[in-house]
Amino acid sequence: MAEAGKTLHLEVITPDAAVLHEDVDFILVRALDGDLGIMPNHAPLIASLSIWPLYYDKDGKRDCVTVAGGFMEVHSNVVTVITPASEKPEDIDIDRAIESEKRAEALLAEHAANLDETRARASLERALRRIDVARKYGKH
Ligand code: ATP
Repeated sequence: MAEAGKTLHLEVITPDAAVLHEDVDFILVRALDGDLGIMPNHAPLIASLSIWPLYYDKDGKRDCVTVAGGFMEVHSNVVTVITPASEKPEDIDIDRAIESEKRAEALLAEHAANLDETRARASLERALRRIDVARKYGKH
């Protein structure tokens, strides 16, 4: 557990890996019903997350990881995010994300009768967020 009252311990976990385990000062996520800022000593909380970056501040510096939905639990200064996919900016393959964006856009433009629109929109959203995070926070 993080030291009482001073920092938050942030864990971001996917089916494949523990992407992040850091002590941080502030966390900003997008829940399904709006943005949530978490500071130390926040009340216990469970929230469903949107496909949106998770921003965190540490030692006066802001960083972020992508988060592809899932949920977040806040309890006793420990913040646990369980998500189907998450990447640090430097781990994002931007060309792959651009290809994914093009595929999703083409599918949505086709208006095929059997199109799973929710799935295509989620894929597009993941790709756009990855491109954005890699460009703004990646070491390019
Ligand atoms: P794609 O169509 O490129 O596979 P996707 O949105 O369908 O993208 P996901 O199902 O969200 O991919 O993720 C599958 C796995 O691949 C996850 O481990 C995720 O972190 C990783 N991943 C997906 N896209 C990228 C990317 N552009 N760069 C790095 N890792 C990625």
